[in-house]
Amino acid sequence: MRQIFPIEESGDRAMVNGRTQESALEVVIFDLGKVLLDFDYRIAAKKIAAHCRITESELCRLIDQSPLLYRYETNLLTTEQFFAQVRDTTGFRGDLDLFRDLFGDIFTPIEPMVSLQAVLRARGIPTYIFSNPNPLAVAHISRRFEFFHQFDGYILSCDHNAMKPDSKLYEVVERQTGKMGGQLLYIDDRPENISAGARRGWQVILHESPEQTISAVRHAGLLGK
Ligand SMILES: [Mg+2]
Repeated sequence: MRQIFPIEESGDRAMVNGRTQESALEVVIFDLGKVLLDFDYRIAAKKIAAHCRITESELCRLIDQSPLLYRYETNLLTTEQFFAQVRDTTGFRGDLDLFRDLFGDIFTPIEPMVSLQAVLRARGIPTYIFSNPNPLAVAHISRRFEFFHQFDGYILSCDHNAMKPDSKLYEVVERQTGKMGGQLLYIDDRPENISAGARRGWQVILHESPEQTISAVRHAGLLGK
């Protein structure tokens, strides 16, 4: 089992947060992509490519992990500007409404993790989403998945011009939750994001599977006996 690891930086943690790792956990911070929702840009690429002059794999390179997507996810481009750039590059023949439908529909809930959040919420533990999404994805997820509305707050890259693991966004989490250091339990599938949280003294779980993560949350005492 992959345990919760505040990685051994207790000296820094004490300095940065003025707290020790014995701090009781008070809130749980969930990453969204690959933690609560699986996603696959190839689904969108396949559908969008049918309306374009470029191939599915060329399109995938343009919209998945690309500099263009990065600018959109950090709010440097509006949805209209992002769409215009995709359209100009690909020859997409539809309008923004069609693009919105095709681009957003790439998500599948990871049910055991959705259930974990519901259990934490029922136990009165505040939960937050901390994610690097784009506005089209947020609109689609908000419309499509009821669980998305069951959080106490949302810290999203596209609202703050900063992306994990930029410390600016972690400061927003601390301000918005009113918690810091070991009071926060943070679940994310990307090691660089987790490391940035651990450096602030947050308790962290590198998400590899629902089974391991749920076991670690139980081990942290958040699910009762
Ligand atoms: Mg993720």
